[in-house]
Amino acid sequence: MSATIIDGRAVAADLRAEIAAEVATMAASGLAAPHLGVVLCGDDPASATYVRNKGRAAARAGIRFTLHTPSGSASTEEILDLCGRMSEDPDIDGMLVQLPLPRQIDTARVLEAVPADRDADGFHPQNLGRLAAGAGATVVPGTPLGCMELLRRAGVPISGARAVVVGRSVIVGRPLALLLVNADATVTVCHSRTRDLAEVCREADILVAAIGRPGMITADFVKPGAAVIDVGTTPVDGRVRGDVDREQVEPVAGWLTPVPGGVGPMTIAMLLRNTLALARARRGEPSAAGPHG
Ligand code: NDP
Repeated sequence: MSATIIDGRAVAADLRAEIAAEVATMAASGLAAPHLGVVLCGDDPASATYVRNKGRAAARAGIRFTLHTPSGSASTEEILDLCGRMSEDPDIDGMLVQLPLPRQIDTARVLEAVPADRDADGFHPQNLGRLAAGAGATVVPGTPLGCMELLRRAGVPISGARAVVVGRSVIVGRPLALLLVNADATVTVCHSRTRDLAEVCREADILVAAIGRPGMITADFVKPGAAVIDVGTTPVDGRVRGDVDREQVEPVAGWLTPVPGGVGPMTIAMLLRNTLALARARRGEPSAAGPHG
């Protein structure tokens, strides 16, 4: 038996269409379209590409998009000042600061300067805290939210399942572990100090690799029939590679997300969903998708 390949491009396209339809409904009822403000500091080419893709996806969904591009030599105070002005602008619903920031900038201070009720990336401690409390966060970081959506739309049973998340970063591993707990999975979080990693992973009905080590997850990490979600994206010889050795794992797993074309396309779709949820909350409307987590 060979794994069902979960097509993230198709799921993300469906999601973007659903978001566009919701935005159109808002406009039809006389409400302003959601507005996303983005700060891109410096000239990192990968960040510029991500931001361009975010802008295009927003425009296609009918979401307004404003880009601020301070110089790469800007100080922490200058970026804090810009975030302060954006957060006082009544016309902006969601905002984000593209990471990584240049080295001289204090990233933690900048992330806290994005108010929780405009936090399109879901990185504000208050939003992460609501997720940790199981209190129904309006916004959740896009990549883990995208993983959950792929599992749900592929029909993978989550409630009662044993889930293992390899990776404990604040942007992927930790929030994903919380989302899985909130969805009634029994969750283990692994990292670089985990002993007997392959043995722990082999217990998983749902195995998530968010490591950044190409091909590290081989067949001996995977329980037959498990759902394997590959978050890793590492450039190798001009191509993007995931953390999962697809050739080995595909014959063993029950479901598998490919790289590219699995989790990657979901992240921007979830950013749009977060922006829409913030806009709805600011206009006093419940989100059609409901609170997450
Ligand atoms: P980080 O580097 O912040 O975290 C990596 C995690 O992997 C850490 O918790 C680390 O452990 C753990 N780790 C590293 N080596 C090992 C090992 N040998 N065994 C077990 N655990 C290990 O990365 P991110 O979470 O930011 O990203 C992870 C991957 O996901 C990257 O490839 C990144 O490019 C990709 N990514 C993809 C996105 C998408 O849209 N598809 C979005 C975001 C990330 P420790 O904590 O002990 O150091």
